[in-house]
Amino acid sequence: MNTTASPATVFDIQRIRADFPLLSRTVHGKPLVYFDNANTSQKPLPVIEAMNEHYREHNANVSRAVHQLGEEATAAYEGARDKLARFINAPSRNELVLTSGTTQATNLVAYSYALPRLQPGDAILTTVMEHHANIVPWQLVAQRSGATVKAAPIDQRGELILEQYIAMLTPEVKLACVTQVSNVLGTVNPVREIARECRKRGIALLVDGSQAVPHRPVDVQALGCDFYALTGHKMLGPTGTGALWARREHLDAMPPFFGGGEMIREVRFDGTTFAEAPHKFEAGTPNIAGFVGLFAAIDYYQSVGFEAIHAWEQQLLAYATERLREIPGLRIIGEAAEKEPVISFLIDGTQATDLATLLDLQGVAVRSGHHCAHPLMQFFGVPSTLRASLAFYNTREEVDAFIVALLKVRKLLM
Ligand code: PMP
Repeated sequence: MNTTASPATVFDIQRIRADFPLLSRTVHGKPLVYFDNANTSQKPLPVIEAMNEHYREHNANVSRAVHQLGEEATAAYEGARDKLARFINAPSRNELVLTSGTTQATNLVAYSYALPRLQPGDAILTTVMEHHANIVPWQLVAQRSGATVKAAPIDQRGELILEQYIAMLTPEVKLACVTQVSNVLGTVNPVREIARECRKRGIALLVDGSQAVPHRPVDVQALGCDFYALTGHKMLGPTGTGALWARREHLDAMPPFFGGGEMIREVRFDGTTFAEAPHKFEAGTPNIAGFVGLFAAIDYYQSVGFEAIHAWEQQLLAYATERLREIPGLRIIGEAAEKEPVISFLIDGTQATDLATLLDLQGVAVRSGHHCAHPLMQFFGVPSTLRASLAFYNTREEVDAFIVALLKVRKLLM
């Protein structure tokens, strides 16, 4: 049996892989090696089955019907809110707005928190390593209000220059943003320190947790931020699920962003009143089955345990990094001291997209491109990178197969 012991747990990789039906398929006649997990993760059977069962047995709309099915669907949807709130240790379920993903979460903060506060001359601070979802919404509201967006620098290793981030927390900054983990570099950012500095200055901090929640336990209270955005499909859940956690005081002060059904108390032509948070931010029929799936995804993480996940993923990261370093002309982009299992790289004399296309023919799924991080590509002076992003259901044997395939396609292109 292919197991490895960590101090507290035994990690049975073959049992885990058996839960992910897609991992056993072939692509172009080759066994699939799925190393595009930072893009979206694969889904275990309990997630697929929970959604299936929801549609087979419980489907109805939420919060509207008094019939049994309506109650079951509402309980399942609200149950997912409870589950997710506990998963990130939110102080209250009512501080968790369920969204379609991180993008909707950051846009909600942009239009509902930032825009009403921004004056000409104000600023939003983000960083050079952010995903566009943590840049473009701020630019849109800055344009409307005469504010600016500032970007804190990183170094050549792909680490945030913390002192400079802190130095940029000047009085005109009305919102600070940072990703907990970079989707391109794998860098883990010092979010607690940043949050501490923001609080000293009375600046609200938004953390993009999209690439953190699949790999590490998150405690928003311990982090000390004001907003935490996450997306469900990178953490074993379905696409179109995610959340914004925000401190109650912010949610109460924020006006609704989307209007429609579900988010009102009373609608009158002489003045509509709104539901309390989080419902005032959840207009329209939500992705009920999706959140049923996300509930099962969290259960799955908890059954495996983050301690075991972390140990396994860090071993894989170290092994894959070491094997990649053996390849002549290969340059890793992102060599931070603390990383999640994401490796971006380039090979001299080849284009990332050509490599990815040929790797696909070998059954290896990796992403090439700018990874929705243009400013980061500009910083490193490259148009794109190849990115191998791993998950706890990957194996050393897959790393070996990836390296064999990479050496093969590299030869074809040189
Ligand atoms: N932030 C980061 C760091 C990401 O990696 C992603 C997804 N690539 C997003 C935000 C956006 O997530 P979504 O598209 O699910 O809204």
